Amino acid sequence: MALLDYQKDMLRCTRCSCCKFIPISSIAKSWRFAYGCPSITRYNFHSYSGGGKLITALSLLEGRIDYSDQLMDIVYRCTTCGLCNLSCQTGTHMEVLEILFELRAKCFEDGKAPLPAHKPIMESIKSYDNVWMQPRAKRDAWAKDLDVKDINKEKADVLYFVGCTYAYNPKLQKVARDTATILKRAGVDFGILGNKELCCASPAFTIGFKKLFKEYAERNIETFNKLGVSKVVTSCAGCYGLFKAKYPRVGKEMNFEVLHITELLDQLIKEGKVKPAKELPMQVTYHDPCHLGRLSEPSVPSEGKETIVEGTNIQFAKDIPKVLGFNGVFDPPRDVIQSIPGIELVEMERVKEFGWCCGAGGGVKSGYPDFALWTASERIEEAKSTGAEALVTACPWCESNLGDAIEKNQERMKLYSITELILQVI
Ligand code: SF4
Ligand code: SF4
Repeated sequence: MALLDYQKDMLRCTRCSCCKFIPISSIAKSWRFAYGCPSITRYNFHSYSGGGKLITALSLLEGRIDYSDQLMDIVYRCTTCGLCNLSCQTGTHMEVLEILFELRAKCFEDGKAPLPAHKPIMESIKSYDNVWMQPRAKRDAWAKDLDVKDINKEKADVLYFVGCTYAYNPKLQKVARDTATILKRAGVDFGILGNKELCCASPAFTIGFKKLFKEYAERNIETFNKLGVSKVVTSCAGCYGLFKAKYPRVGKEMNFEVLHITELLDQLIKEGKVKPAKELPMQVTYHDPCHLGRLSEPSVPSEGKETIVEGTNIQFAKDIPKVLGFNGVFDPPRDVIQSIPGIELVEMERVKEFGWCCGAGGGVKSGYPDFALWTASERIEEAKSTGAEALVTACPWCESNLGDAIEKNQERMKLYSITELILQVI
């Protein structure tokens, strides 16, 4: 698809502004936490909303505006969290997020992107197969002394795909180690790719570098198919969302099931293979990572129905992928948390498909760190409003950015990954 394919679709934007909020009449509980789009909430000018970006895209496409620093700012000060897409789906049914991605892809094609802050990340993927400019030889350093099967040499039923951030970030490697330890104790027959693991290319997709995304998606699918595994399990929500929702679009057969660790843990707990036994008396709240929730539902092709609105031929663009998002992974992480004796889960106001983003996605953490921290701070405020003493999540980007906001604001809120909690109680 290209931005041009959405031209007629874009004309349907009624400028209703629903994309700025979670559904006011049915979901929102207070004005304090009714806003859903970090970009418009932070910058308070219509162009920064999903609908505003869409009008910007149409104007650029039709030659009524040209590239400028301000335009690039509007395009990239956006976490691509997809809340706008869900809120619009409840009314006008625009494919807002797809249009934002196509707008970014156009910026690439026209030589205006990547932004200086994103360039080293793209170069790092191309040179090192990871986003952290780290040597390939260090990719499996997290697994030292764990005696995990090397799936390149020994067959296994399940591939544990670790992802760049859990593999390389010293603050987060613990999550990979905890995950492997839990899987071993549960008797899961799994292995890792070690130094042969490649980036999933989620950052390339989100900032609009389609060619790089496609190359890595094809290489990863080929590898997974060749391994003959029945399941690919990730603990990174970014890898998971991409494997589930975007990899199927490259047109290669995928002969394996994709599971997030929270889905597998939920199954293992319900089958009695993982037994949370120790008491953890604590009130916690759960942050839905966008890529695990609303961004992980595979898209379906639109029917391309034509509609006449007040004499104008307005059309749902034909064959465009319709991104839904209401059926992401919302319940398994909650069930896993609630399986722990003594834990009480209290919900924030913006949850599940209408969850507030952590602020790290879409290249914002690297491109606009102040905006990333502001967005995370908003989430911490919401978490505090529940009275919970701890915030639990299941994504390296959320853990890193929410952790940074807690540290910067000197909050007392504790932060856990789900695997860390489970390992404490089994
Ligand atoms: S993008 Fe959708 S929700 Fe936003 S203003 Fe346009 S029609 Fe309304
Ligand atoms: S993707 Fe998220 S940050 Fe970007 S415009 Fe939509 S709601 Fe706002």
